[in-house]
Amino acid sequence: MTTQPRHRFAYVTLVTNADYGIGATALARSLRRTGTTADIVVLHTGGVDAAALAPLEALGCRLIEVEHLPLSDVFNERHARGQLHSAAPFTKGRKPAFHSPLDNFCKLRLWQLVEYERCVFIDADALVLKNVDRLFFYPEFSAAPNVYESLADFRRMNSGVFVATPSHDTFRHMLERLDTPEVFWRRTDQTFLETFFPEWHGLPVYFNMLQYVWFTMPALWDWKSISILHYQYEKPWEKDHPKAVRLQPLIDLWYRFHNDSDVPEIAALDNPEGAA
Ligand code: UDP
Ligand code: MN
Repeated sequence: MTTQPRHRFAYVTLVTNADYGIGATALARSLRRTGTTADIVVLHTGGVDAAALAPLEALGCRLIEVEHLPLSDVFNERHARGQLHSAAPFTKGRKPAFHSPLDNFCKLRLWQLVEYERCVFIDADALVLKNVDRLFFYPEFSAAPNVYESLADFRRMNSGVFVATPSHDTFRHMLERLDTPEVFWRRTDQTFLETFFPEWHGLPVYFNMLQYVWFTMPALWDWKSISILHYQYEKPWEKDHPKAVRLQPLIDLWYRFHNDSDVPEIAALDNPEGAA
């Protein structure tokens, strides 16, 4: 579907299958609750059926169909789920069966949205708990650290939330850099973006609070400060996943947004045991 932009800024997410459509619906509901007037753009591949996209359309999202990137066969094989999981195993958590690593690279299509002055990308497995419109005035490339286990994580970047300036030139340079012989991006778009923007600007960790912090580093948790909550690894809508018992309060909150039921005052929620 082709629609017109309604604003100079956009929140952008990506959906390549019905499961991430569920996530994106909760994300879009959370964004609407912040009162933002920026566009909400859902980049989706052709494989996502109309039923999965209907709730997003009802929420006034701008749906834009995108192709996978034009990448070589060897690149695609190297980054296919089975290959990637054996070459660079996930030891800290588990990815859902519906997660295809190759699909992550479609995030780079954001740079083609040149009708916008600036975009804030947010993974479909996140919730926005406060208005974050000021991020549209942050420079490219801004992102938060990949903190979910220890202090050392502050050195790395997480690509679940980032601020970027669409540009055909940047997009072209990215494609040139992405698919070169022998290259292996072990954490797909995240490793690539960290390499492409070595001088990335660090956002406070509260702009991309990863769910594992709830039990690994409770001293860092502070409901009053969290702007964006990101359910990395296991997804809240996966039934009885391995971390579900430990993450129950966060899963309950996600369902509040997803079901469009009453959302409690976030700042008044109980922090985990061990919070500062
Ligand atoms: N994504 C998608 N389909 C896939 C894999 C990823 O649509 O098969 C999109 C979706 O927006 C998702 C993001 O890319 O939130 C990154 O993947 P995910 O959030 O599962 O990675 P994690 O945060 O667990 O590292
Ligand atoms: Mn994610």
